[in-house]
Amino acid sequence: MLKKIDELSSDIFEHYEKKIYDQKQLIEISKALNSTLDYNALIDSILNTCLAQMHTLNAAVYLAPDVDAPYFTIDSSFKGFDFSEKEIKTQILIDSPFIQYFEEKPKAIALKALEKIGNMQNDDYFKMFKAQGVEVISPLSAKGKVSGVLILGEKMNTDVYAEEEKDFLTNLTSLAAIAVQNARLYELATVDMMTQLKVHHYFQSKLREEMEKCRKKGTKLALLFTDVDKFKVFNDTYGHQAGDVVLIEVARKVMECCRKNDIAARYGGEEFCVVMPGANVDDGYEMGEKIRKAIESHRVINPNTGEELKVTISVGVTEYHPLDKHNKELIERSDQALYKAKHGGRNQTVTNPRKD
Ligand code: GH3
Ligand code: MG
Ligand code: MG
Repeated sequence: MLKKIDELSSDIFEHYEKKIYDQKQLIEISKALNSTLDYNALIDSILNTCLAQMHTLNAAVYLAPDVDAPYFTIDSSFKGFDFSEKEIKTQILIDSPFIQYFEEKPKAIALKALEKIGNMQNDDYFKMFKAQGVEVISPLSAKGKVSGVLILGEKMNTDVYAEEEKDFLTNLTSLAAIAVQNARLYELATVDMMTQLKVHHYFQSKLREEMEKCRKKGTKLALLFTDVDKFKVFNDTYGHQAGDVVLIEVARKVMECCRKNDIAARYGGEEFCVVMPGANVDDGYEMGEKIRKAIESHRVINPNTGEELKVTISVGVTEYHPLDKHNKELIERSDQALYKAKHGGRNQTVTNPRKD
């Protein structure tokens, strides 16, 4: 009898020990998820955490592609699952009964249990997940609203997901929902909707931050400004709508030319800039020429008439100098270089490093 009580208390002890361990894990996961506002890095981190914690090789998340989208779509960073087959739906309508179910019951659930609920076995999304080998589904739910769905495949050791694991997953996906929401809001506040480049204030603070790194570590930094040539005439001739297409496409070319750590931003209107950590003025010149040539050889299609139009840009480049105290100094030098490029005949790159 005594032994039995001992065994019982040992079970209870183990149970609470596991609960405490899980809570500690969740706090660590929460810290990790909240430490990144980079949307893609965050999704990757959520999926990798699920793989590690749930011992599975297959994880994917469906999220709204933008604030107004009526559906969730599979995020491209999915792990393991094969979504290449045609019958796989990569979108789930937000007002579908499938999502409504999770609005009412925001908890992780095994697919086998879901099958027994209402008319779920006839639901197209349910059937698709079953065919795909999904074992468990958990909604990304925060403040009573489902903002996405996480799916996991079978466990590596072929066990079913235990109740505690599903509870853990419910907590993990609600933390993920908040982190995704924060990253989304941050993106909305820092990315220019039209060009997808960073906004002006983001550029200013990043430039200050990068200059500080140069000061402390003795590293290099180049700053590049681009400005569309005779853009007022372009707008007047072809219309503002065609002008907007130019800005979108020039921005895309700028982004395509950027290296991993470069920060491309819309300084204002038709002026873009790139902060290039680790680069000197020669690297900046090379980059400026790369962007300039890419745009010179590109043709913009007038959305109203279908005609092919040519645009060019001018580029001004400078680099960080240890005597630079304020980001204004770098911006002024790039601007002077740009001014020279304009007066030298446009469609060219001019450098202007500090001379003293
Ligand atoms: P320059 O070669 O000297 O740069 O001549 P420019 O005509 O490009 O220079 P200016 O600064 O006089 O004109 C910039 C034009 O950019 C005027 C403005 O209407 C246009 N612009 C600024 N923002 C936008 C935008 O979001 N969309 C469109 N379509 N045009 C814009
Ligand atoms: Mg301008
Ligand atoms: Mg211009």
